[in-house]
Amino acid sequence: MSLTASSQGATGPRVLLRRLREVMAGSGSAQERLDQVVRVIAANMVAEVCSVYLIRDGELELFATEGLNPQAVHRTRLAIGEGLVGLIAERGRPLALRDAQAHPNFAYRPETGEEIYRALMGVPILRGGREVGVLVVQNRTHRDYNEDEIEAMLTIAMVLAEMVASLLSRDDETAPREGMTDLPARLAGTVFNEGLARGTAVLHQPRIVVERHVADDPEQESRRLRQGIVELREQIDTMLRMAIAEPGGESREILETYRMFAHDRGWVTRMVAEIEGGLTAEAAVERIQVENRTRMAEIADPYLRERLNDLDDISNRLLRTLTGRADSAAAETLPDDAILVAHNLGPAELLDYGEARLRALVLEEGSASSHVAIVARALQIPVIGRIERLLELVDPGDTILVDGDHDQVFLRPGADVEAAFAQSLEAREAEAAEFDAIRELPAMTRDGVEIALNMNAGLLVDLAHLDATGAAGIGLYRTELHFMVRAAMPNVATQVTFYDRVLDAAGERPVIFRTLDVGGDKVLPYLARHEETNPAMGWRAIRLSLDRPVLLRMQLRALLRAGAGRRLNVMFPMIADVSEFRQARALLDKELERQRRLGEALPVQIRVGTMLEVPSLVWQLPTLLDEIDFISIGSNDLMQFLFASDRGNPRLTGRYGVLSPAALSLLGDIVAKCRDADVPLSLCGEAAGRPLEALALIGLGFRAISMNAASIGPVKRMVRGVDMSRLAPFVQELGRLPDHSCGDRLRAFAEAENIPL
Ligand code: PEP
Ligand code: MG
Repeated sequence: MSLTASSQGATGPRVLLRRLREVMAGSGSAQERLDQVVRVIAANMVAEVCSVYLIRDGELELFATEGLNPQAVHRTRLAIGEGLVGLIAERGRPLALRDAQAHPNFAYRPETGEEIYRALMGVPILRGGREVGVLVVQNRTHRDYNEDEIEAMLTIAMVLAEMVASLLSRDDETAPREGMTDLPARLAGTVFNEGLARGTAVLHQPRIVVERHVADDPEQESRRLRQGIVELREQIDTMLRMAIAEPGGESREILETYRMFAHDRGWVTRMVAEIEGGLTAEAAVERIQVENRTRMAEIADPYLRERLNDLDDISNRLLRTLTGRADSAAAETLPDDAILVAHNLGPAELLDYGEARLRALVLEEGSASSHVAIVARALQIPVIGRIERLLELVDPGDTILVDGDHDQVFLRPGADVEAAFAQSLEAREAEAAEFDAIRELPAMTRDGVEIALNMNAGLLVDLAHLDATGAAGIGLYRTELHFMVRAAMPNVATQVTFYDRVLDAAGERPVIFRTLDVGGDKVLPYLARHEETNPAMGWRAIRLSLDRPVLLRMQLRALLRAGAGRRLNVMFPMIADVSEFRQARALLDKELERQRRLGEALPVQIRVGTMLEVPSLVWQLPTLLDEIDFISIGSNDLMQFLFASDRGNPRLTGRYGVLSPAALSLLGDIVAKCRDADVPLSLCGEAAGRPLEALALIGLGFRAISMNAASIGPVKRMVRGVDMSRLAPFVQELGRLPDHSCGDRLRAFAEAENIPL
């Protein structure tokens, strides 16, 4: 802990913490002792005001103050988010202001008499990761609170949290109901993976409440911390050994990152410094963790956030080691219908739970492109993230309804919500049974046109869905995912093992490996990053690969080796003109030549193709088609570039797409050109997985499309209801219409023709 000279007064941190403890353990009513505590803190922080607000019935209530009008105690109440104190509670992080009254959130409460104070600093009071209140100091003058003072307040707030709980539990009259956890609640979030689920809340990390914060013997606490770290390192090494037994698995590289943190000297040094300031080993871990979380909330960079999240996870593991608690809920017996609730989660941790009992994942943090969301998609469980205050509101064992179709979660739902949700769930289950029944049947229209329904994949966990869905093959293997969930660049041997497993799982079914499509939001932790204004149109995919040919050559080498004796399909992403394709192809030829020279076995057939994602390539088709073996349209990117419409911008979602006449007419042209040149064509963007869009695509002449595993059933059901001789002429006309979208016309057609969507 780093209390500054000014904030230490004449005492010093350890003495202050001990003094606080003495007051709290002393005689007098709860209120009297809390009043004394705020006096001690005010004096120590050289502040005219010190106040404690505690959450009672979902609101912040002034519980004790030194400096504000005593009449305001238990009268001043603020909603979460209201005023500066409410803002601190809402954000869950410190706030320091030289001129508090100039802040837009300042809410004047006449009963407090606070108008004479200018500067304000407040920190959340957290207990076991839950916010229970806010601690505030105020000064008359415009004062700049420095970093050390904020840190000192965080430590005091932590110690206070323990004391508040023990003190108030003895005084029923003023006791706040801890948290806000008994009422039904609807929580809004952001869907990372669609779907519905009902189940029982399981906290990924059982709540650990540090009971003892202040220690008298720093030597002993230091020893305990070091012992805890030794055990933590051993645990990680054991997990690593287990991961190594499963070559090519995703979790290994992540554990390497964990190991790096566990051996980080800076982290240990910071915790030891806290112990020297008077904290117990557990309190020191928690203290640095809170600081880390505060930093995390301010960082926008997704890669750095993921790393800080890893550090958060490591801190929790260490806390559990020190308190002798189970590692995570994965180590305990889960209910059959577990809904995992976490602040955030690493992909490896999610994989630890296995698929059997997991119904959904609900996160306080996260993003749709985070690694854990990618893995959850592969596991086919709905995920909702970015739910504010989630961990404060959920208790283990709560019933949760996850509505991944409408970005919401219902906690402890009432009977009416339960009934409505049960109906939606039933309808879903009936559909799933229907898809199961057609799994082995061909994806063939009523008049005998066969459509190859392929699956998109990118992680080993996806492979199980090949059999489960009856997909014809893998139409897009996004190899970058394998690179993204690792802490270090996988070498050629590791890549070979991985691609080998993919080809083994596919057997006779074709797999199209797309070479690395990194850059933009797909970040490789071990590759230098460059700030870009428009990363989606930036230095990504084939552009990066051609500028860093070693990376691509290593990958091509691994693919050739894994494909030895089998059929290999290689596809290049984001090709904008023929010359780029030629350059990429030349690298493949070089690797092929090298394999030959070394006398290594080669694939029995190599087909080389390209994604069509950049509109410029359409005008080069006459030349390109002579040189390639297949094309796959990446409609996600093609639409974003065609309509100048950011695919990641939620305000534009669904605004343009393949059902716009312009897109239909462009796609129709591409189909015709590929057909004339006899080059196989597919489409592997998200549109292929939506039955209405897929209906348009097959009507335009696509005979192969590739989609998420979960879409194969619905799309196959649609295909089997189509009469192509009626659909094709109808769709051909749509491209000429002046409509914004042909969605409604197509839906009406499907209804009239009894095509299930
Ligand atoms: C696409 O752009 O449609 C595509 C399939 O590639 P990705 O989504 O990986 O960019
Ligand atoms: Mg793309």
